[in-house]
Amino acid sequence: MWLLWWIRAIFLHVSSHIYQMDTGVLNCFFGGNMNQIMKKEVVGEIYNGDRLTFVPHRLLQLGEDKIAVISENSSGWCVTNIEDYLQIKDFFSKGKVVFDNSFGDKRTDFVQSLWRSDLLEKNGTCLSQLIQPFPSVLLVLKITGNCNFNCSYCYDYSDARVGTIIPIDKVKETISYVLSQNRGLNIVMHGGEPLLHFPLIKEIVEFTVKAAGTTKRTNFFIQTNGSLFSKEVVAFLDKYNFFVGLSLDGMTEKSNACRAVKSGATCLEIFNKNIKEYGKFLRRRAGIVCTLSQRNLEEFPNFVLWLQDLGIGGITISPLVPAGKGAQTTSDLISSDEYIKLLDVLINMIKTKEIERISVESINKFVSSLVGLQANDLCHSNPCGAGGDFLAIDSKGNYRACDCVYHDYFLLDNKTTCIFNTRSKLLNRREYMKNHACVNCAIFGLCGGGCIAEAITNTGVAEALPEKSCKVKKFFYRTLLKEYAFDKERPLFAYYSRLAGVKSRLNEKAVV
Ligand code: SF4
Ligand code: SF4
Ligand code: SF4
Repeated sequence: MWLLWWIRAIFLHVSSHIYQMDTGVLNCFFGGNMNQIMKKEVVGEIYNGDRLTFVPHRLLQLGEDKIAVISENSSGWCVTNIEDYLQIKDFFSKGKVVFDNSFGDKRTDFVQSLWRSDLLEKNGTCLSQLIQPFPSVLLVLKITGNCNFNCSYCYDYSDARVGTIIPIDKVKETISYVLSQNRGLNIVMHGGEPLLHFPLIKEIVEFTVKAAGTTKRTNFFIQTNGSLFSKEVVAFLDKYNFFVGLSLDGMTEKSNACRAVKSGATCLEIFNKNIKEYGKFLRRRAGIVCTLSQRNLEEFPNFVLWLQDLGIGGITISPLVPAGKGAQTTSDLISSDEYIKLLDVLINMIKTKEIERISVESINKFVSSLVGLQANDLCHSNPCGAGGDFLAIDSKGNYRACDCVYHDYFLLDNKTTCIFNTRSKLLNRREYMKNHACVNCAIFGLCGGGCIAEAITNTGVAEALPEKSCKVKKFFYRTLLKEYAFDKERPLFAYYSRLAGVKSRLNEKAVV
């Protein structure tokens, strides 16, 4: 489930152009700080006669007297103190409040900011319901089950898929259908090793560009081990503005011990050769996807600095999962506590500006989920991409709601026209989690019940708590909301803003 995180994080940058958020601090008359949307004209304001209701929400204690008020069904939130929260509750205690001229400037600004923070319903509708979650569908094409590597942790490997190649007719039919229904399409070439079938990739890209014409937006991504780069391949990827996820586990052979090649140069030697020959391209278009295991845990902070010195723009951390071949490598697994400890080290390196020019996407995606009203990372939306706009076609031609675990749970109806309306069990799971395993969790609106693929991998049951991602999410959102509440510098938000290019006015205060 982790290998796609880099790609989804890049997807974030694509979609953030549409709904950029302004996390400017607004001191309303209750004193709350609201996250709010920038493009007011897109979503409308509150007018006389609008009926307003405080949405169902949960509270996260941040320390001192500060709390985060988090919508139950979306990533809307505000930070305020308990006394002010009680005033807000009291203000809306009779249910609906009808907006009119008697509100005065302060109260008007207050309800506008609550609305923009997705904590109010206006005439029965929240702001997040008015915004299309993703401007485009993310289509993952598992080009082949073959690979020229033999990684000991490969989640994708299965004897049943060796030798399979994605059926091109189904790919074209799907692309045409999705384009006809949406504003755009993001396509990820995945595998196995997708570049084993470079002519097929070319055919798909050229078909898509033609089908999209000038009215639909398309973006291309590839997840590759980089061993099949050539001048021709790199020129093609560059021509079509591919975002490249390049697999590498560290800067030493020891760290890359799990990434066995079938013959020839090692994974690290391949990377070093690529950076020498195609450095300009990789610095511009590639990010590293690193599988975290006991083999590279210790070295990891130095690995990030090494990549930063090389001029690489980003890295995504994918903790090893016990799926596929990974199920046999349990001694290499890291615990959630070890992962959180590593994230803590990285956060401190960001605060001291040791990490400055490289985007640690596994940190930035959490910030992006907070500053955006709709999470742009498909694993961070509620429901996650598996219940929404994420679609995979496996190398045997099956539609899947998520490709991170090959489990029948994710199989979708195989008729092209049904692919987006057969996900009710995934949506039902969210409701179930809301009222059962996650009933007391303050950040349900930001999480939605966690990663189903992880729950299935660990327990075989979709409705189980995904232990690792659950702990990590709790750690991150608490850390970030505390930073927002108490640290004037807000170093993690600033780091995100700088690298993601999102306009931020975190330190400005609007005078109300
Ligand atoms: S390079 Fe990727 S697809 Fe190939 S064996 Fe390794 S993890 Fe699996
Ligand atoms: S199940 Fe959802 S959260 Fe988990 S990997 Fe798939 S899309 Fe992401
Ligand atoms: S999975 Fe964990 S973090 Fe997510 S809502 Fe449930 S309890 Fe909260």
